[in-house]
Amino acid sequence: MGLEVLSINDLESRVEGWLPFSQVGGNPMQWHDVPFECGCGEIHYYNNVRTPMLLVKEGKKGGVVILSTECKHLNAIQFKGFFNFSIVSLFSCKLGDKDESFGLQNKELLAEIEDLSSRFSDSWEGW
Ligand SMILES: [Zn+2]
Repeated sequence: MGLEVLSINDLESRVEGWLPFSQVGGNPMQWHDVPFECGCGEIHYYNNVRTPMLLVKEGKKGGVVILSTECKHLNAIQFKGFFNFSIVSLFSCKLGDKDESFGLQNKELLAEIEDLSSRFSDSWEGW
C-alpha cells in the first residue's frame, strides 16, 4: 500500500487551504466501520468520534484529514465508492506533544483538535 509517512510540517504544507471540518460539516455514515491504513502501521476503522475529520479538501472526495485518536496520527484519506465503500490512505504523520501544540503550525487544524478533544475526551484513550 502506498501510504506516505511525513513530518508534521510536510503534512501541513500538503493540506494548506483545506477547510476546517467544523465549517464544512457532514458525517459520511456510509464509511463508518470501513477499515483504513494508518501511519502507525495498524488498520483502524473510520468512526466520527474516535477517528474524526479535521480538515476537508474541497468536495470531500478530494480528501479529508482525520485524527486517529488511539495512536495520535493524522491521516489524509479519500472516501471511495458508491455501493462498495472503501478508504484510501494518502499520507500521515504522528502528532507531537500536546504541551507543544502537537507540533502544529496550522492554527485552524490545532483549533479543530482542541475542540474535539474537549468534547470527546471521554471516548479518547490517553487524552
Ligand atoms: Zn494508527
